[in-house]
This record gives sequence, C-alpha cells and structure tokens, in this order.
Amino acid sequence: MIIGIPKEIKNNENRVALTPAGAKELVTRGHTVYVQHTAGENSGFPDAAYEAAGAQILPTIGDIYKIAEMIVKVKEPIATEYPLVRKGQLLFTYFHFASDETLTLAMMKSGSVCLAYETVENPDGILPLLIPMSEVAGRMSTQEGARFLEKPQGGKGILLGGVPGVKPAKVLVLGGGVVGHSGALMAAGMGADVTIADISLPRLRYLDEVMPANVKTLYSSTHNIEQELPVTDLVIGAVLIPGAKAPHLITRDMLRLMKKGSVLVDVAIDQGGCFETSHPTTHADPVFEVDGIVHYCVANIPGAVPQTSTLALTNATLPYVLKLADKGWRQACEDDKSLALGLNIVEGNIVYPAVAEAFELPC
Ligand code: NAD
Repeated sequence: MIIGIPKEIKNNENRVALTPAGAKELVTRGHTVYVQHTAGENSGFPDAAYEAAGAQILPTIGDIYKIAEMIVKVKEPIATEYPLVRKGQLLFTYFHFASDETLTLAMMKSGSVCLAYETVENPDGILPLLIPMSEVAGRMSTQEGARFLEKPQGGKGILLGGVPGVKPAKVLVLGGGVVGHSGALMAAGMGADVTIADISLPRLRYLDEVMPANVKTLYSSTHNIEQELPVTDLVIGAVLIPGAKAPHLITRDMLRLMKKGSVLVDVAIDQGGCFETSHPTTHADPVFEVDGIVHYCVANIPGAVPQTSTLALTNATLPYVLKLADKGWRQACEDDKSLALGLNIVEGNIVYPAVAEAFELPC
C-alpha cells in the first residue's frame, strides 16, 4: 500500500503520525511510505531519519494527498485540507466528528473512508488510542501544577515534595482514571501528600492497592471535597463521564475555602471542565486567576511535549497502521472488531451512530 504522512498544519500541533521506526516497519513489509518535508521535525525526526528508514520525502501536502492510498495523521483535516482528500482514500487520525459538523459534512462529501483513533474500542470498553494522551496529560498536570505553585508564577510558593523538616504540599486528584492515576503517580514520586477522589469504589480499591503509601483514596462527594480544599495546595481535575460534559466538582463559591495562591489544573477542560470557573487556555497563555486561585486549563496539554507525545501515540497506532496497510481497511476491520469501531464515515455515509445522532443525519 502507498502510505502518506502529511505535516500537521493545525495551530501549535507539533506531533507527527509516524516515526522513522514505524516507516521502517512498513517499508520492510513491502509498503511505500511518503512523508511530507519537515513533517517530523518538531517531534525530533528530521527528513534524513525517514529516508534512512526507507521512506521518501515529498515537498508539499498536496503531493502527499495526491499519491497516498492511506493518509495517517494526528489531528483532523482542517478546511484547507478538505479539497485534497480523495474519493476512496483511507484517513486514519483523530477526528472528533461529533463536535464538528463542517468537518463531518466535508468528509462525507469527499467520499473517503474515515477511521477515527478516538472510537477504536476494545471489548472491555478501553479506548487504546486515547490512553497514551491521557497518560501524557496526567503526568504533565503535576509538572505544570508544581510550576505554577512557584511564587514567581503566581502560586503560593510551595515546593511539592517539601524538604527534611518541612512538610510536603498536599495534592487532591479528582478522578482516578488514566489521567488521575498518572498525575497522582508523579505527585507521589515528587514526595507530595496525595489524595485521589473517585466515585468508583472498584477503582478506588485498585488505586489503594497499587499506589505508594503517600497516596490516599477518598470517595468523591461535595462534602469530602469541601473538607479537603482548605488544606490542599494543588487540585488536579481529571474526571470523565463518557459522552457527557464534565460535572462542576468545585464551584466558584467553593474557591473561598482554598488558600490564595493554590493551583487548580483542569485537565477535563476538553469536556467543558470540572471547575465552574474554568475556561480553555493555551500553552502560550496557560493560566488565569479567579479569587486568588491560579487556574491552568490548557485544552491540548500533550502538545507541549511533542517528542514524548509522538512516541506515545505512534506506539499505540502502529499495530493498527500495519494491519490496515497489510490487509486494506475492509479486511482489517472484518478481522479486528476493535478497529472496525473506528469507522465513522465510509464513502459518503456515516456509520458511527453517535456522529449521526449529533447532527440528526442518517446512519
Ligand atoms: P478515565 O475514564 O480513565 O477516568 C475518569 C475517572 O473519573 C473515572 O475513574 C471515573 O470514575 C471518574 N469520575 C467520574 N465522575 C466523577 C466524580 N464526580 N468525582 C470523581 N471522579 C469521577 O478518563 P481519563 O482518560 O483519565 O480522562 C480524564 C479527562 O481528561 C477527560 O475529560 C479527558 O477528555 C481529559 N483529557 C484532557 C487532555 C488535555 O490535554 N486537556 C488530555 C487527555 C485527556
């Protein structure tokens, strides 16, 4: 198969969908890989590394779309890419169709086959192509929280791990899923006094077993959160109710329970945020203050660490890319039901019910 890797053109997107190691795997299996000039540069992979792996470099994004049978990307195509997408072409990337009607209609019109990373789903309900980014965002949430607790950054000026003779900071993690677990692990590793709150008792039992001794678990209720806030320095918001907006676990009124200069990191901001006072921010201007409390609400946290994020994402996507290249999308999806759930639009028709429902279109 002919595989094309365009350079991402969405604002501030520095990841690339295939590493030179991935290109080598494909080439070894007899496939042809075209990579757009400088596509991997911001992730630490120069053109020469792809060429050494057997891929060929093409100068423009148009060249890639023109020649490739399968396009592998990171983010959904943006408007300038719509006319480049060809009938019958396979696109494997994050799409998030349900939140973008224009994109949905454009991809239907293109006649392409759209396989979305975010809806590939294992039989146990796990979303294998979303997990790596949650792992990155969770780890980053602690790193950023520690940074903004520093006085020159607007925080109260407390060191997460403390020092001998001085108590460590207290971290409250709301939601003990992939993000929460990763964030808590980092905070615990830095020596903080960590509490994870969740509404799932099986999840709390699991965390209680696997986490180090400086991590405690707590049932998530408004009462329990209110009890914690006066003594908490950093709150990481990491809740998810699938398919729904995040609940506001900390209201504006509850901010007065916290000490000035405390930090809220709202990782769930991409689902609306789990603090009432949150609004999305960017890496260029990541924080704002409400009632003396620092809010960090970057909607695309993994974008700050493209080298790590690219490797984490491609580790998860490559096995599927190989299947699609070896078998073609029809056979690959017939053989792998998890992958088949990634099909959202096939040659003009929506085949993923939630996307059709979002825009009252037939499925
Ligand atoms: P997950 O499903 O693994 O975990 C969510 C957890 O929240 C579950 O354990 C669930 O029981 C818990 N929960 C639900 N309601 C709760 C409540 N009221 N109180 C406490 N816990 C509650 O999800 P995840 O992969 O960890 O993702 C968490 C959030 O982070 C999602 O909103 C996701 O979209 C977001 N995210 C954001 C970024 C970013 O860059 N901002 C990156 C990755 C993920």
